[in-house]
Amino acid sequence: MPLYDWKLKFKPQVPEEVMALHRSCDVVDLHIDTFMIMKLRHMDITKRGKPVTYMNLLQHAVDVPRLRQGGVNAPCWGVVVFPFHRAGFFNQAIKYLDMVHQWHQDHSGLMNLCMTGTEVQDTLAQGGIGGILGLEGAHPLLGKMENLETLVQRGIRYLTLAHFTSNEAAICATDRKPQFTGLSDFGRDVVSYCDDHNVMIDLAHVSEPSFMEAAAHTRNPVIVSHTGVRAVNDMWRNISDTQIRAVADSGGVIGVILHSNFLGPDRVASVNRWVDHVDHIVKLVGPDHAAIGSDLDGAIVPPREMQDIADMPQLTWALVQRGYTHEDIRKILGANALRVFKQVMG
Ligand SMILES: [Zn+2]
Repeated sequence: MPLYDWKLKFKPQVPEEVMALHRSCDVVDLHIDTFMIMKLRHMDITKRGKPVTYMNLLQHAVDVPRLRQGGVNAPCWGVVVFPFHRAGFFNQAIKYLDMVHQWHQDHSGLMNLCMTGTEVQDTLAQGGIGGILGLEGAHPLLGKMENLETLVQRGIRYLTLAHFTSNEAAICATDRKPQFTGLSDFGRDVVSYCDDHNVMIDLAHVSEPSFMEAAAHTRNPVIVSHTGVRAVNDMWRNISDTQIRAVADSGGVIGVILHSNFLGPDRVASVNRWVDHVDHIVKLVGPDHAAIGSDLDGAIVPPREMQDIADMPQLTWALVQRGYTHEDIRKILGANALRVFKQVMG
């Protein structure tokens, strides 16, 4: 029995009226790493891949047919450099961007890369898929504003200040010997530049002091593209209630991750655990600040009801069963994130 069949027994049939609700909503995913896998494996994402088993590092869970089936029309593509070797960070990011732009050129009409919130909105209104690019970690800046300028010109529309390691701008969530607290002078300049150039600040992976200073320094709503919340599962990468309030105060959104390890103690979580994290955010700061940030194709272990992005309606079904109103579900699936895109990207 292929391993992915093992998941089928956990996958409830989503009722037709819930499917209809899901299909009527715009669905934004604030963080997907598919192009990272493409860089390694060169798979063809115009074709449907196999459902994903337990780990999906070498399988991909996202491609055009499955985005369509899952109703996800605004994917945010992570632009990722391996954050442990300083040399070549900038060139790696440029090569990565070359690949993503080339793919979109070769497949124009299948998915758009959007530079403004209005472009995203127009693409979705025409029934298309409108993606945006997020740089995961300020490492490729190498401490130079001109590198940021180049990367923004090449289409970066959100900047995650740190990644698995710290950099010249900000300290990451695991750093035990931080070189500075909060943001560096360079980090503050980076945030100001992003504010002036319609680039969203993403605080996933960022240590609490850097997170809080960035949220205070920017004049825009901030996003946390892929995270869990500490009150539900106390682990290093999840965010505290103070951080959740700071995002809400800025008018921003928190993308709740689908990685089992972030959601709770089970090796493979249930989608109900995902709703627990959403629910905590909603109870703390209201329904306008929760969103989806799956981290699919980022070596995650998705909940057992989900084999790939085609199973996004499972989230809608879980929210319906938890008693969420259609209006709040619409916000969480996409409207909250689209509001921030519009406000920051213009
Ligand atoms: Zn990440």
